[in-house]
Amino acid sequence: MRVVIIGGSHAGIACAESLRQNGYDGQITIIERLGGLPLERPPLSKAFLAADPDDESRFALRNKDWYANHDITLKTGVEVAAIDAGSRSVSLADGEALSYDRLVLATGATPRRLGGLDAMSGVYELRHPEDARSIRDAATNAASAVIVGGGYIGLEVAASLTKTGVNVAVFEAADRLLARVASPPISDFFTTLHSDAGVDLHIGSHVADFINDKGAFAGVTTADGKTLSADMLVVGIGVAPETGLAEMAGCAIGNGILVGSDMATNVDGIYAIGDGALVQTDGTDAIGGEAAVHIGAGIRIESVHNAQDSGERAAAAINGHAPPSRQAPWFWSEQYDARLQSAGLVPSPDDDTVFVRRPGKRETGFSVWSLKGGMLYAVEAVRDPAGYMLGKTCLERGLTPDAAQLADPAFDLKAFVAG
Ligand code: NAP
Repeated sequence: MRVVIIGGSHAGIACAESLRQNGYDGQITIIERLGGLPLERPPLSKAFLAADPDDESRFALRNKDWYANHDITLKTGVEVAAIDAGSRSVSLADGEALSYDRLVLATGATPRRLGGLDAMSGVYELRHPEDARSIRDAATNAASAVIVGGGYIGLEVAASLTKTGVNVAVFEAADRLLARVASPPISDFFTTLHSDAGVDLHIGSHVADFINDKGAFAGVTTADGKTLSADMLVVGIGVAPETGLAEMAGCAIGNGILVGSDMATNVDGIYAIGDGALVQTDGTDAIGGEAAVHIGAGIRIESVHNAQDSGERAAAAINGHAPPSRQAPWFWSEQYDARLQSAGLVPSPDDDTVFVRRPGKRETGFSVWSLKGGMLYAVEAVRDPAGYMLGKTCLERGLTPDAAQLADPAFDLKAFVAG
């Protein structure tokens, strides 16, 4: 039996590891188009940008020996050119063909791009280690940067560059920062944090034009006609799932590669995991049962937790084991001295939704609890690990504290959770 995994990032490696942990003793081959040892992604917008270029091995997802010790063949720097689902084989760009019994697509997502910038130097996106290296190099010679997109990429890079002394301006099209992923109080918190650090925030604002000086990025024109000179541009405006190979294999595609809760696609023997996979279930196996459909079914989640969880889920299905128990989806971010931990999926603000702020143990710590229709959907905690843990437990047990209780610092949340 041979499992071939396309994509050697967090999801693909988690799947391989989980196969071995579950006792699978057949062949495992991971094919990764990037060269070198696969690195962790979360530090790329944070510690990696400040790291010594000669000290990158500390960011390796697994060290070299790990692959050998687990009898996993890692082929890097080679692209998969084609999949033939009928004969169960993949062809590599270097001419090699590999047969498989089970194929796992961990092909991830690609950054969205802005039009008209292709020919300009000084323009960066951030997905791969090579992108982060380019940003790190450029920042050593830059006095100023424009960042388009006020999501996690934009804000984490803004914090990293600001810390190194670069003057940063951020343009976010939505009416608040982190609008896709965070509640309004958390957006407000990060707005203040970045303003206080000196970041020039343009919220609800598009860049009108990009200034091209002899082929190099030189600044932007704002919607109200002002010119802002800058030495480099970072674009973090979201990602689109990589579905090309899956389509070639005959997999059904929506806003991602469509899979069931076992991560199996509609094509026999092919699974999809990670950022590119879209789980289609009726939600009844989501945590909290039927009432908790909002916990993740039908949504393509882009996170380390989802990479890990979906990799383990596919491995369990391939091995014929029971799936791992469900956790509430979790995320984290670090910007300056603030750590955000979040569990659940924050609902879009509407008349049915309340966001309750609860003070944390530390003076500067707090959590925001999102309740929709009287039910807990998400907890976001800033400098408040205890608030985060209690919130995550509530989500996983289907508990919803009362909004008034949550807002009351004297309310014993720990006792409530203990039951
Ligand atoms: P993101 O979370 O989708 O945020 C991109 C932001 O850019 C959105 O708010 C978007 O607004 C805005 N935008 C889109 N087009 C724009 C334009 N032309 N001008 C100004 N703003 C524009 O994506 P991301 O920050 O690029 O992150 C990419 C991926 O990396 C995501 O999967 C993210 O979760 C992941 N990531 C996660 C972490 C973490 O968990 N800590 C850290 C780094 C990266 P609209 O939504 O209105 O389009």
